[in-house]
Amino acid sequence: MKVDLAKFGISAELPPVFDHSFTGSYIECQRMAYYERVLGRRGRETSYTLTWGAVFHALTEVWTATRDLNKCLEIISVNIPEDTDDRYGRNQRRMQEAFLEWLKYRNNDPIEVLHTEQPVTIACIGDHPCPYSDHSCDLVYGGRLDEIVRWNALVGPLDFKTTVVEENDPIAQYKPSHQMLGYTWMASHLLGKHCWGAIVERMIINKSKIKPGRFPVPFNRDQIVEWVENERAVHAEIRQKFAHCRDDESYWRQNYARCWLPYPCAFRDACLAPRTAEFRYRWIRDNTTEHRFNFQEGRKETDSDAS
Ligand code: SF4
Ligand SMILES: [Zn+2]
Repeated sequence: MKVDLAKFGISAELPPVFDHSFTGSYIECQRMAYYERVLGRRGRETSYTLTWGAVFHALTEVWTATRDLNKCLEIISVNIPEDTDDRYGRNQRRMQEAFLEWLKYRNNDPIEVLHTEQPVTIACIGDHPCPYSDHSCDLVYGGRLDEIVRWNALVGPLDFKTTVVEENDPIAQYKPSHQMLGYTWMASHLLGKHCWGAIVERMIINKSKIKPGRFPVPFNRDQIVEWVENERAVHAEIRQKFAHCRDDESYWRQNYARCWLPYPCAFRDACLAPRTAEFRYRWIRDNTTEHRFNFQEGRKETDSDAS
């Protein structure tokens, strides 16, 4: 059912450049992407897991840019509470220990940084030189790339992950990632040749363990070409939906498998309630705040897993 969005003080917009935060969310749950990215709303509470991942990510970024230990320790004390009742033992001291451990790890097993972290938009259209096709990918896609690095003989985008559990097979865990395929596509266009894949630097941080590790996550050319085709189709579908159904949530499909994982969707109380669309838009107005994420200005939003 169409709704007069203005009546609820809500507006519908598409981001100027599609990134993983948008199309990745859309692939997970169309309705969530609609609420979050088209209506530009988010829950009032920020999850501690997201804050934890974002702070660790900021530390690595500031360290790479400045090598200023005091500045890094200040980031920790300003952003992470001294004591929490976090069941994984994540508090200020643990973050300091984890960061020092990461410094040691980087020192013992260094990587060469080819590009520093930056927002990147690739418009592979028209006669843009393309590592994947004789013409172009016919795709505009962006995101905030961590560094592009050389590690041993491997060159690729680096991605940081913080987690509380040790997966036995981290490569398999990160392999089906829409985000890393996109990073690999962007890095390949920046370097002018196919990167073999992404490199994940993972920190396991919990009560009993602090363990840094690094894993290559390879993607071959065919997988990237397939990602491009899929991404193009998703962009077209989103634009079409936006043109016809920007004020009708029912066309943005729900995926109930996404409601609780990997971190809970902020819209469950409205979305899963058997109520009218009017109720839901009112709930969104009253229980969420406006927030339009722009990768060109902000840090990446989801860099941490907790299970
Ligand atoms: S509650 Fe579930 S179905 Fe609804 S928007 Fe969130 S993830 Fe999608
Ligand atoms: Zn291309």
